[in-house]
Amino acid sequence: MKPDVELKTLHLTTPFRIAHGASSSRQVVRLSGGGAVGEAPFVPYYHENVEATLAWLRAGQGAPPSRAAELALDLWRLDIEGRRKGLPLSSEVPDDLPRREGLLPGCRSFSIPTSLPDFAGLVEETAQQFQVLKLKLGSGDTEHDEQIVATARRVAPRTKLLVDVNGWWSVADAGKMIPKLEAYSLELIEQPIHHDGGIAAWQALRAALPKNLTPLYADESAQNATDVPALVGLVEGVNVKLLKCGSFCGAIKMIQIARSHGLGVLLGCMIESSIGITAAAHLAAWADYADLDGHLYLADDDYLGLTFDAEGCLLMPDGPGLGASPR
Ligand SMILES: [Mg+2]
Repeated sequence: MKPDVELKTLHLTTPFRIAHGASSSRQVVRLSGGGAVGEAPFVPYYHENVEATLAWLRAGQGAPPSRAAELALDLWRLDIEGRRKGLPLSSEVPDDLPRREGLLPGCRSFSIPTSLPDFAGLVEETAQQFQVLKLKLGSGDTEHDEQIVATARRVAPRTKLLVDVNGWWSVADAGKMIPKLEAYSLELIEQPIHHDGGIAAWQALRAALPKNLTPLYADESAQNATDVPALVGLVEGVNVKLLKCGSFCGAIKMIQIARSHGLGVLLGCMIESSIGITAAAHLAAWADYADLDGHLYLADDDYLGLTFDAEGCLLMPDGPGLGASPR
């Protein structure tokens, strides 16, 4: 059976600004058929070929031309399989990978603010539900970056704070900023330096930093399981996203490798509908942090899946496969 292939544009309620730029809409490729769905997002800074992706998914021949193509097809197939067996997607994870019991607190992310007073209000309001917040830094001005963190800490004194620089600091800036940010008791700092610098840049950063500071996590530097071993000793954890790995099993493999080296796992996502977010959330029991709020930025998310309880913890939908259903 071949899936129906659709290119969908999803609209954000307000533009999301990170170091890579701002966006107000995102495209996803959606597959349906056999009562199942699959989806993968196109991320602007990945520059994946949309036309080639759609053509490959329709024809189904040769190697996938993009990670979006590979992931959308993988999730659709797993949804069919899960529905046939009556098992959730999470049943794909091997029994020997240690899992947490109980609910995992979800994380809400904030794009880089221009108005700190508006940002303070938003953080304060969000912290009433969510116990974990992630701040996007990399504004181009390290003083403004520190003000973002100081503002959030002031209005949310007990909330766990993660920051994500998206590779925007130079090694020298990161060497100054990371010790400065100790004052704000952060949980972790994600991708402080650009991935283009490779392992040598991480080594230079570590050499410039005192020991035992806030844990550093790699995101852009750790695309999939293959990238993890070289980062051991340089980072304390990795950000695992389905799209980076190209498949659900690829993400499981990345978690397995990370855990085998004693690394932390932050589950991440792109801005995408509840289909992709819910698929990723099936890995939450094997993660330390779940940054899975990409669907909450959308004005027109047409599916229902992962939700959050009054304390901001992840609530999975019932049902086999991905468990996402049309609204
Ligand atoms: Mg990141």
